[in-house]
Amino acid sequence: MDEKKQLLEDYYEDMGISKPVLRFCLEIEEGLKQRFAAIDAVAECNQMKVLSAMRKNRLSEACFAPTTGYGYNDIGRETLERIYADVFGTEDALVRPQITCGTHALALALMSQLRPGDELLSPVGKPYDTLEEVIGIRPSIGSLAEYGIFYRQVELLEDGSFDWAGIEEALNERTRIVTIQRSKGYASRPTLSVKRIGELIAFIKKRRPDVLCMVDNCYGEFVELAEPSEVGADLVVGSLIKNPGGGLAPTGGYLCGTKECIEKAAFRLTSPGLGREVGATLGVTQTLIQGLFLAPTVVKGALKGAIFAAAIYEKLGFHAIPDSKESRHDIIQAVELNDPELLIAFCEGIQAASPVDSFVRPEPWDMPGYDSKVIMAAGTFISGSSIELSADGPLRSPYSVYFQGGLTFEHAKYGIMMSLQRICDTGKIHL
Ligand SMILES: *Cc1c(COP(=O)(O)O)cnc(C)c1O
Repeated sequence: MDEKKQLLEDYYEDMGISKPVLRFCLEIEEGLKQRFAAIDAVAECNQMKVLSAMRKNRLSEACFAPTTGYGYNDIGRETLERIYADVFGTEDALVRPQITCGTHALALALMSQLRPGDELLSPVGKPYDTLEEVIGIRPSIGSLAEYGIFYRQVELLEDGSFDWAGIEEALNERTRIVTIQRSKGYASRPTLSVKRIGELIAFIKKRRPDVLCMVDNCYGEFVELAEPSEVGADLVVGSLIKNPGGGLAPTGGYLCGTKECIEKAAFRLTSPGLGREVGATLGVTQTLIQGLFLAPTVVKGALKGAIFAAAIYEKLGFHAIPDSKESRHDIIQAVELNDPELLIAFCEGIQAASPVDSFVRPEPWDMPGYDSKVIMAAGTFISGSSIELSADGPLRSPYSVYFQGGLTFEHAKYGIMMSLQRICDTGKIHL
């Protein structure tokens, strides 16, 4: 064995990874070289896309100066928004630290475009949990339902395909927005590729060119060569503590879309009459831009981690969703562990491998809004950031763990090996 390999083995052993676990995992990694090379190629294209937008918009040091108070004449904020618009191929963008999270960005998008009497349609089944309260599927203060906005959804067919006839029928004279969620979130349907999103948008626009097509792009940014806004979406929306923040953004959300959509969103975010002209950036602009610069590379590492995990657990006979060979459209990896003890062990491993809070032990707890206990592992620099290595899962059959992120592949790899180590330590799984 060469010296470097020996050193690495010693490091890992010191860090709690036994030789059998390490050798098992390294062999799996060896088999993923081609797959990883394809991911590198996508990241390289997306790096050029981001860099080119920064050069084109003449990003300069002056952009990094903080603004306070009303935040008038914030050239950094304006440059950041022009860069996002160019990266996503849209006319305009709203990218603000005042947008608190993904749910807020999505609520802002919906509330700014919809008016009383309008109808919102989801042609891809139930939206992400937190959107149920925004829409008013579950009654909530200030929901769209309270403002007299209607909602309708069309389920995907059994095989995950679009119910074209059902969608056609659901479109009516009230329909104002069609909302399309790219990532499956915690549902069991497949994540949508940008190509499929484009086909869905084309179908809708052919029938109703006046209907706005909006995409919940959370966890999807930079996974593919194109974004949904490049295949016809009027508005794409996401969180900066996921993919596009590159792990650096401390908070924030983005909306990229047509001039009209973004203008309406800005007037809703701040105030009628004020719009996008206000909003102090308090010095975070440099971090938001640098995070975007790193995002394609960070997403690359997270994707490799997800595939590495899928391959490992598949080899051990577990059901990985998506599997290690499928094409990827988001960074989420689910593994059905079929046993509460293994789910807890997996999450303990991820936590122990974290740079922050490695010494705490995650425990299942009764999280509000869930009907079973949930266990969560996250030792992140940015609180709640899920582009950083994190894992969670509800303690109910099939005891699936959902895991995502990793600011570097090296860290994701160690976290996954640690999860396997903890699983082996239960004595239930033998390599
Ligand atoms: C994360 C996420 C959201 C928004 O969640 P926040 O926790 O509010 O940022 C919405 N939709 C999907 C698909 C998501 O993954």
